[in-house]
Amino acid sequence: MTTALPGSPFLAYRGPDLYLEDVSLQALARTHGSPLYVYSRQAMLAALAPYQRALKGRQHLVCYAVKANSNIAVLQTFAQAGCGFDIVSSGELARVLAAGGDPAKVVFSGVGKTRAEMAEALQAGVKCFNVESTAELEVLSEVATGLKLTARISLRVNPDVDAGTHPYISTGLKGNKFGIAHELAVQTYLRAASLPGIEVVGIDCHIGSQITDTAPYLDALDRVLDLVEAIEAAGVRIHHLDLGGGLGITYTDETPPSAEVLIGLLLAKIDARGHGHREVMFEPGRSLVGNAGVLLTEVMFLKPGEHKNFCVVDAAMNDLMRPALYEAYMGIVNVQQRTEPAVLWDVVGPVCESGDWLGRDRALSTQPGDVLAVLSAGAYGMTMASNYNTRGRAAEVMVDGSQVWVIREREAVSDLFKQERLLQAT
Ligand SMILES: *Cc1c(COP(=O)(O)O)cnc(C)c1O
Repeated sequence: MTTALPGSPFLAYRGPDLYLEDVSLQALARTHGSPLYVYSRQAMLAALAPYQRALKGRQHLVCYAVKANSNIAVLQTFAQAGCGFDIVSSGELARVLAAGGDPAKVVFSGVGKTRAEMAEALQAGVKCFNVESTAELEVLSEVATGLKLTARISLRVNPDVDAGTHPYISTGLKGNKFGIAHELAVQTYLRAASLPGIEVVGIDCHIGSQITDTAPYLDALDRVLDLVEAIEAAGVRIHHLDLGGGLGITYTDETPPSAEVLIGLLLAKIDARGHGHREVMFEPGRSLVGNAGVLLTEVMFLKPGEHKNFCVVDAAMNDLMRPALYEAYMGIVNVQQRTEPAVLWDVVGPVCESGDWLGRDRALSTQPGDVLAVLSAGAYGMTMASNYNTRGRAAEVMVDGSQVWVIREREAVSDLFKQERLLQAT
């Protein structure tokens, strides 16, 4: 019997054993050790497909947000599927190029691009800089003219979507560091259009992450289209609309709209308001990779207690930071189901911090030596990993059908301090 888990049809029990596509996760952990990130190539492509279906027949670009999962094999998968990329550093640009991505399909986001990063991106020929302040615009103009190049830009506008209605939106509100205030957008576009080395090509917004409702997107789109009309009335032409990323996934019982439904609604509004001729862009990260990955970890010790039962595993907050950082809920299951009754456990790692937990009060039937899978770990997992407690970062594996590729080797301890130097004797 096959039982699928929430979030991914590619992750399912066959009898007692959990498989990702046609690969047994128990077998993978035995072969490659733990902690181990495992990604499904088919799940990533299946997550991209509704974006592509919804945008078919219209000038568009899906720019995968590299920061969600930046392994070059993941980037290669999306590059081969026709994606562009949303980057936030020249390091991410280097990864895109190493993965065979097309720089002409790259958009460069972020509030703090350095001059060196601007120059690298200009020389690579990126499609667009998503500029977040007037100060950045002026520096970009200087860097571009110095190189005798032109920076194509959009301004990231802050649509200030009503917090009362949508309190979970964290980046599209007045009072956070992202974007250019709605009231200043027209004058900033006029300034941009007057600067040498700058060519205005679009408008951009990104209102937050893990959004599970269509309403904030539709509200933000209305605000953006109002601005486009005002900007064009002021004499500056806008070619593309970049509506950002942020679509949520199912970690437990969330029911986000499918990308196809969301984009269908957005395109209907774009058409209804007479903007159907524009290129439309999206920057999805989490929704393309989140449910395509798991983190495998071995149970080391069980510590039943008077108030709490602790299940100590070999993955920690340095491997997967989301629970410690945001108190995020991520599902945890045994990759080989046991028949004994489940007990409530706090699943914790070896790092010396009380915040080092992966899940609290989880009903699990488990014993030392078992392999657990932390679910929906394909986004903001490995990319946020650190070496805290001098722990080497996990290995990463990609599966496709029954094929298995190691896409990142486990970090050796000797790698961790090879750039450090002892004091020279005086
Ligand atoms: C992080 C980010 C994204 C991707 O967000 P997701 O929630 O992962 O889809 C897209 N655009 C920008 C500017 C971002 O900062």
